[in-house]
Amino acid sequence: MSEPKGLVPVCSFCGAEKSPELPLIAGNNGHICQQCVTLAFQVISSWGSKKSVDTPELKTPVAIKDFLDQYIIGQDQAKRTLSVAVYNHYLRLRMQGQSTQDMTLDGAGSGVDFEKSNIIMVGPSGSGKTLLVKTLAKIIGVPFVVGDATTLTQAGYVGEDVDSILKRLLEAAEGNVDQAKWGIVYIDEIDKLAKRGGGNAGVRDVSGEGVQQALLKMVEGSEFRLAKNGGRREGGEEVVLDTTNILFIVGGAFPGLTDMVSARLHPRKTSIGFKAPVVHDKGEENISKLLEALQPDDLLQFGLIPEFIGRFPVITFLQDLDVEALKKILTEPRNALTKQYQQLFEFQKVHLNFEDDALTHIAEQAVKRGTGARGLRAMMESLLMPVMFDLPTDTGLDTCDVVLEKAEESETLKVNKAYDEDKAAAVVEEVKDEKKEERPNLTVTV
Ligand code: ADP
Repeated sequence: MSEPKGLVPVCSFCGAEKSPELPLIAGNNGHICQQCVTLAFQVISSWGSKKSVDTPELKTPVAIKDFLDQYIIGQDQAKRTLSVAVYNHYLRLRMQGQSTQDMTLDGAGSGVDFEKSNIIMVGPSGSGKTLLVKTLAKIIGVPFVVGDATTLTQAGYVGEDVDSILKRLLEAAEGNVDQAKWGIVYIDEIDKLAKRGGGNAGVRDVSGEGVQQALLKMVEGSEFRLAKNGGRREGGEEVVLDTTNILFIVGGAFPGLTDMVSARLHPRKTSIGFKAPVVHDKGEENISKLLEALQPDDLLQFGLIPEFIGRFPVITFLQDLDVEALKKILTEPRNALTKQYQQLFEFQKVHLNFEDDALTHIAEQAVKRGTGARGLRAMMESLLMPVMFDLPTDTGLDTCDVVLEKAEESETLKVNKAYDEDKAAAVVEEVKDEKKEERPNLTVTV
């Protein structure tokens, strides 16, 4: 940038003149002094805290589902259920606030109390339960925490007590109780609190049930005293968090649940003998039908206490992801894995392509391993790690194609590299130029 001759540059924000004590940073059309940089930084930092809103924005179920569709493949039923439940939850809160103002002349409101719609999500590991809830929290813009039921213990026992979830929610709300009480709490692995067949078994899972009782108190809506800034309760400033309006979502794989539902739907005829009919295993395709027929009582058999289930009126399920769904997960969501790696390579000016067969092979392997979508990243990482190791120093590398090599008996994934000579020459020139020149737009003039 050129300066008018004879004129001393001044800070374009405060007008201070440049001097040996007051260096200025030059931009394309002006200058800025250190004090103004500091001030601008403070202003920008304050924007971040103002952005958090007190009342969550109300979005329609269609809008919520559209948003979820951008990140999550399949699981249509779960997406719809969650969208409606979340919409109703916040509508209820909004209406509650209004109904005290909109009292009718005789002093009565609508007289209808909406019950909260906490949600149970049933689905195999890696089918997107956590992803669904995390994505929901993104769109709703309220504090959100994920807890794990297996780490929870009754107060007084070694481990994380149930209150700790609320402490974390308060932290997520930056200590703002009003925001925390609108939050979403997701508790994963809830099925691990219940012992299989616990209701009828001779040995009761006391600690699991103890945690369920503690969670029940929270889910029903109680006032909890928490230390204002995390840490220990004793001595510090306390706040009271009322959990009545917090939306609770619990999730779990509930292994064996489908068998229980199947047993309910098709009670086995007991027949013994050589001529007894052979009982065929139910096919994979029936599992989603079984889950559709799921009723709260089935969870009861699984060992969850009735009062706890009673507080979760919405039950939804996620299906096992098949090869097609996993392939879509690799390529379609906004932050799909292939897009992430392509971007990472593009930053280093290398194009990364995936052959369709290669993607199918990766998806098939994930299905074989039974890891759901969870295993995809690990597979991609081990496939691309050797290439990424060399990437910054692999001069002239232009394209990497991930392909599936088929030999007679085996199939192997391979990364084929293509080089561009002009690119290699340009890199050498660039290095020379960088040594010669300073960066043009940010020059400190003293
Ligand atoms: P769960 O909670 O059901 O065990 P997660 O939600 O933690 O599974 O899924 C693990 C990862 O797998 C997610 O972070 C996401 O990258 C991917 N994933 C799982 N299911 C889906 C899906 N339906 N659509 C897109 N990505 C998915």
